[in-house]
Amino acid sequence: MGNYIPEIRKYAHLLVDTGLVVGAGGNVSIRNGDYMYISPSGFDLKEIEDDQWIKVGIETGEVFGDLRPSSEILMHLECYRRRSDINSVLHAHPTYSVAVSSTGKEIPALFPDFPAMVKSISYLDYIIPTTEVLANAVKEEIEDNDVIVMRNHGVLTVGKTMKEAYFYMQITEESAKVYAIGCSVGEIRTLTEKECQDLRDLSAEKYRAKLIQE
Ligand SMILES: [Zn+2]
Repeated sequence: MGNYIPEIRKYAHLLVDTGLVVGAGGNVSIRNGDYMYISPSGFDLKEIEDDQWIKVGIETGEVFGDLRPSSEILMHLECYRRRSDINSVLHAHPTYSVAVSSTGKEIPALFPDFPAMVKSISYLDYIIPTTEVLANAVKEEIEDNDVIVMRNHGVLTVGKTMKEAYFYMQITEESAKVYAIGCSVGEIRTLTEKECQDLRDLSAEKYRAKLIQE
């Protein structure tokens, strides 16, 4: 059992502990070579034992072991097939992201971290969960986006690491939360496109500086 099991366990627990999923909602996977390990169907993410994560062949879709994998297995497989650069997929049902997106609105940039760190978000209108139709829609969008918000359903994020995918989930939810609270107080000012671009340039600068140092 490699390091990926403690890693996936840690972030599965974090999703529950930070209220991003409730009950048996949400599913998590991690890539390990030609395989992914995904949460089993019907389990609370905190109740999964280390030997209950389900191994699945990424190309073949072959499922190893006796437990049933998450019903969103197809969505996870398509992410790994389309994005050789990512190793983690998280799917959760965060309250504010679902609330804001279900009004038909998008989650706006209100504070610097959001536009600086999340390049783009894709929004999907409601599609029945667990279906091939949903997996196909995700497949189309995930090539150019690390975050997909599914209206009336939830959010999917991908990352090079679990930490990155979790960060995208957290910051998307935080932005939706700030937006919802702001709207209940008064009229909200969102960052302008110019302000967002300046932040992206700034973070790209920092990133390049960091690369040079290493
Ligand atoms: Zn879901």
